[in-house]
Parts: sequence; C-alpha cells; structure tokens
Amino acid sequence: MNDATSKLLYERACRHLPGGVNSPVRSFRSVGCTPRFIAAAHGSHITDVDGNEMIDYVCSWGPGILGHAHPAVLEKVKSACDAGLTYGAPTAREVEMAELLSELIPSMEVSRLVSSGTEAVMSAIRVARGYTGRDKIIKFQGCYHGHSDGLLVKAGSAALTTNVPDSAGVPADFVRHTLVAQYNDEQSVRDAFEANPDGIAAVIVEPVAANMGVVLPAGGFLRFLREITHKYNALLIFDEVITGFRLALGGAQEYYGVTPDLTTLGKIIGGGMPVGAYGGKAEIMRSVSPDGPVYQAGTLSGNPIATAAGLATLNILRSDPDIYRRLEEKTQRLKAAFLSAGRGIHINQVGSLMSVFFTDRPVVDYASAAASDTAAYAGYFRYLLERNIYVAPSQFEALFVSDAHSDEDLERTCQVIEEYFSHGICLSGN
Ligand SMILES: *Cc1c(COP(=O)(O)O)cnc(C)c1O
Repeated sequence: MNDATSKLLYERACRHLPGGVNSPVRSFRSVGCTPRFIAAAHGSHITDVDGNEMIDYVCSWGPGILGHAHPAVLEKVKSACDAGLTYGAPTAREVEMAELLSELIPSMEVSRLVSSGTEAVMSAIRVARGYTGRDKIIKFQGCYHGHSDGLLVKAGSAALTTNVPDSAGVPADFVRHTLVAQYNDEQSVRDAFEANPDGIAAVIVEPVAANMGVVLPAGGFLRFLREITHKYNALLIFDEVITGFRLALGGAQEYYGVTPDLTTLGKIIGGGMPVGAYGGKAEIMRSVSPDGPVYQAGTLSGNPIATAAGLATLNILRSDPDIYRRLEEKTQRLKAAFLSAGRGIHINQVGSLMSVFFTDRPVVDYASAAASDTAAYAGYFRYLLERNIYVAPSQFEALFVSDAHSDEDLERTCQVIEEYFSHGICLSGN
C-alpha cells in the first residue's frame, strides 16, 4: 500500500499549518501515523492522493449521511452557484430552511442559520443567558460543543468549584460560569443546581454523547434533565450537531421523546457545506437581534450555496424516511461482527452511530471512556487502514454509517474485523 504522496504533502503541510492540518481531529498522531490527503470521494468510498480507495466510516465526521457527492445534492449546489455565491441579503432558501426545520423538529419554532456548529452553540448559550438573565451554565465532561472559550472546560478536582480551562489561551475567568457535571450522573446535576438555585441559565448536553466515543444516555437521564431544568427555571439545550437528522428526522429529541427549549445543529444540516443553526421556542428566540437584545450576526450566515446543499440533503432524508431503518440495519451488521469476533471490547451503538471501545468495562461516561486502551485502538486503526477501511483516527470519535454503504462494503468490513481479532493483535503496545 502506497502513501508516498500523502507523506510528501504532510511534510509540506507541517511547515505552514499547525500539525499539518486545519482541524486537530484530522491528525493521525494518536494512532501513530500520518494523515491521508484526500483527492476525491464518491458514495461510501474516499480516495487519497496516492489512489488508495477506502471504505469511509468517518463521513466527514457526520455530514455525509447520504454518502459523498450525492448527485441530487451536487446538482442543487451547481445551479445555486450559477446564481452567485453570496449576497449578504435574505433569500428564499433561508425561509424554506427555517420552515423545514420547524416541520422536522417542531421545538425549533424559530431558528437562526450560522456557519458552524461552534457558532450555533456559542449563540444558543448567549440566548439562554440573555433570556433568563442568568450567567451560569452546566455542561457535561466529555461532551464537546465546539471550541468557543466558555465551553473548553474540564472538571477540576472539586468539579463544582474548580473548573479549569481545557485549552491554553482561555482565561480562567472565562470558564468561571461553566459548571461541569458528569454524563448519566443525575446527582452531579442536582448538586450543581442546589449550589446555584437562581444562577443557572441552561444545561447543555449532547443527547447522545458522540465526542468521547459514542455514549448513550441512560434510561431516564434526558427526562431527568428536562424535569430539573423546569424546576429551576433554567433552559435545556440539546446540542444535536451530530444527532440532528441522524438518529431520526427530528433528531434525538424525536428518538427519545424529550423536548428541549433550544436546539443546536451543524454537520448534516449543511449536507457537506458549512451550515449551523440554533433555534427553539418563539418566545425565547425573539430575544435574538434585531427582534431582541441578544446580538448575533454573520456575513455568510445562510449562505445561498451552503443552504442549497443543506436543503437538498434534508429533502432527500424527508422523502425517504425508511433510510433510518436501513442505517440501523447496516450498523447492526457491523456491530454483530465486532461482538462475535471481538475480545476486550465494548460496543456502544444507536442508529448509525457506533463506537468500539477497547476496554473490558461498559462505557457510560467520561471516566469509563477515558479508561480505554488507546494503544490497542491505534493498532486496530492501522490494521483497517492498511486494508483500505477508513475509521476515525481516535478512540474517542464515532464510527458513522451512511446510506451509501453497500452490502459489499459491509461484507468486506466484517471480514476484516474478523481477521483482525482472530490474529490476536488487539493487545495493547503493538
Ligand atoms: C462537531 C460538533 C460541534 C462543533 O461543530 P463545528 O461545525 O465543528 O464547529 C458542536 N457540537 C457537537 C456535538 C459536535 O459534534
């Protein structure tokens, strides 16, 4: 297997890009090799600059639910381009998108388009603070909500009092209002509310955590969050940047039957282009400028090309709701292969989201995820890559299945999984 051109590009990249990449998740550092540079992708396959054609289970970290370069999406994008790239003025497609969001996710009565998930979450939190007049928020350790300052927080030794920035360059003062609770741990949330009964603007959660590997909400956990936020007059924000349009057309809130006050979207909503959105109850969203006092703006927000790609993608999903059953079946097939062949692993899976944790304990929160054997994951990753199967270069990311994954793709993948485990090279340190 040849990766000479990728290696050369990586050398050049490292001279002028931090770590040779424009987003750290693309780096292969944690799996001990250099990233593949991609030349093209179609359907379920991604091809690197050396001509290696791989079965892709990263799917651009989620947007590619239909597979790459879906012809109907490309057609809409191309015809949108012919009408100009951006106007800085409202367009019909933005109205269509807002209407579609309120149809598919009824809790999003009013929404605002932005250009990334980071922006969506940052803005939703500002709205929650502006609307409630409170400063503090509760987030969960291991949940990722983009890279805005106030959300790059980890729990300190005494979680409720000593939160510390999770990145250099974030002043401790900027995370003073971010309380860190533990996923699936109701008591940690109660403690935070009891210590700040009138101070908490919102609880923000990934309804299925997918940024510490996939971690499912324990039965009743989301409902508990709904109840306790009501009790303290705080807002509940579902960060559905990954789960939106992936678990169901109506996202995790439809799948689990728990309705948040505000929702944030990204990834699939752009169909491969930069789009994010936040929205919720009209009464809350009316606090956004120019209706209300919460300022939020964007030169390229609702960009006509990006919105065309997003709308095309959502319309395909809406016209073919059976897609969610197919996605589940495909993912179950991979899961079954892991379960029958695998040793020393735990699988978390819901819909087309799955993680294979190299650990002998169930993974239910950050601590149990972090206990995984990342060296074993790295060995597994390299084994698959050498056989042209492209999974996330990190133990702590999801495996994404798309509608484009074919029977042959799945069969080949299951075969490689079986081979991998039967060779007994999943031991750490290799
Ligand atoms: C990816 C992600 C974000 C950030 O979105 P970007 O478009 O990368 O800024 C926020 N929240 C969740 C849950 C995500 O997975």
